[in-house]
Amino acid sequence: MKYYSTSDPSRRASLEEVLLKSIDANDGLYMPEIIPVLPDTFFYEMEHLSPAEIAFRVTNPVFGDDIPEDVIKSIADKALSFEIPVVELSDRLYVLELFHGPTFAFKDVGARFLAGLLSWFAGRTGREITVLAATSGDTGGAVANAFSEKEGIRVVVLYPAGRISPVQEKQITRAGRNITAVKLQGDFDDCQRLVKMAFSDADLKKKIVLTSANSINFGRLFPQTVYYFQAVSKIKKDSDRIAVSVPSGNFGNLTSGIIAARMGLKISKFIASTNINNSVPIYLKTGIYTPHPSFKTISSAMDVGAPGNFKRVLHLFGDNHKAIKNTISGYWFTDDETLAGMRELYESYGYLADPHTAVAYLGLKKYMDSNICTGIFLATAHPGKFADETFRATGTVPDLPAFQPAGDSVRVASPNDYSFVRKIIEKSF
Ligand SMILES: *Cc1c(COP(=O)(O)O)cnc(C)c1O
Repeated sequence: MKYYSTSDPSRRASLEEVLLKSIDANDGLYMPEIIPVLPDTFFYEMEHLSPAEIAFRVTNPVFGDDIPEDVIKSIADKALSFEIPVVELSDRLYVLELFHGPTFAFKDVGARFLAGLLSWFAGRTGREITVLAATSGDTGGAVANAFSEKEGIRVVVLYPAGRISPVQEKQITRAGRNITAVKLQGDFDDCQRLVKMAFSDADLKKKIVLTSANSINFGRLFPQTVYYFQAVSKIKKDSDRIAVSVPSGNFGNLTSGIIAARMGLKISKFIASTNINNSVPIYLKTGIYTPHPSFKTISSAMDVGAPGNFKRVLHLFGDNHKAIKNTISGYWFTDDETLAGMRELYESYGYLADPHTAVAYLGLKKYMDSNICTGIFLATAHPGKFADETFRATGTVPDLPAFQPAGDSVRVASPNDYSFVRKIIEKSF
């Protein structure tokens, strides 16, 4: 399988290049040349398959040219070793719980699969790979945990000092020997800026292999298709029109869903549900895309004003606004509406949801007000990860399963300064 980039569809790249670069020199994102349609037999069988088995059947047709089958199987088994339940709230309303992984957020799925892929390529090329990530909380924990003790890989995670929760900090700083947590004297935007500087530092990239574990990396994005198959396979057979609502920030999750549909999965509508960072819902309404600086909300993992993966969405529909609107509807909600949604889920169904999940619920409900269908919304974080907001909305304190640290606390305090951070990335401090 060859890959093209959204910035230059005529040039081709190998899977190794796609995984090790994650983005091309002109900020283009990689896509496979062909999105294979899966055989009917798979769709008949999928309800009886585990998430790990579905992961193998879905990813093998894309990765199978480049990676041996038994390796893909083993990566899938290790990455999807937890439950992904579908909970029925009422006759036509379901929630897909993606938060039963080790760091209690959906990012575990893609990050763990990517860790398996990169570790295999590190072994094959004999070169150490450095994974660099900036985090406002969830990504760092999922990435640190997924890559913990993976052969041939080191991870450097930049997080803003004093701005992430104690659980998140523990997940990042106690992840094992190959994970360097950098506590930066600055905010999340500073972390992101320094990471961007490193990725465009040609001299640094001559010295080390530097890649990203963000959803711009196709190796993290594509395995996320798996749980869409899992969801559809578990709902009632007579469901004809199925709508899936995705709480969206950088739009990696929703892009994965669209790829799953292109592989033959019967989802007739996607709902892009966002907080007030609403550049995509506004685009869907008006045809005009205006990215903006991000606004802070209680669904903080979706505070993205310029969603990185939106390029991929545009590309998948040939930039055709009408075609995109046929497949995707978009709605956005304020924090007050989100809290009211959390309360409603609890009062109507006895269901505790975190703020991100509540945004997805609200988007689905709005769509289903005027469309007859079966609806699934994605629960992307455990409510216990956002205990304060959950308590504020429902008066109930959710429990959070204990996090299992992999090592002692290790972190490097860093000033908000690229030359210092670069030394850490290069391991020359
Ligand atoms: C990252 C994240 C999202 C947004 O996912 P994207 O793929 O960036 O759109 C939603 N909810 C939670 C809890 C997240 O951590």
